[in-house]
Amino acid sequence: MKKCEVCEVNFWWDDDVVIVDDALYHKGCVQIYPTGCFAMLDGEPLGEVENGEGDCAYDILDDGEYEEDAE
Ligand SMILES: [Zn+2]
Repeated sequence: MKKCEVCEVNFWWDDDVVIVDDALYHKGCVQIYPTGCFAMLDGEPLGEVENGEGDCAYDILDDGEYEEDAE
């Protein structure tokens, strides 16, 4: 399982995920600044987002690295 560096919750398959310096975060756990897509965390610059405005977890993680619905 891969989890968000901020909230340490495993990603769900349809979570919006941003990649910053090879670390993965929920899009909602960091503040995204559209100018160059720079991510901030609690006012501290985290780094440039490598995948624009974020991708769905299932697009960038492998099977088994995110939570899936049981059905
Ligand atoms: Zn998170």
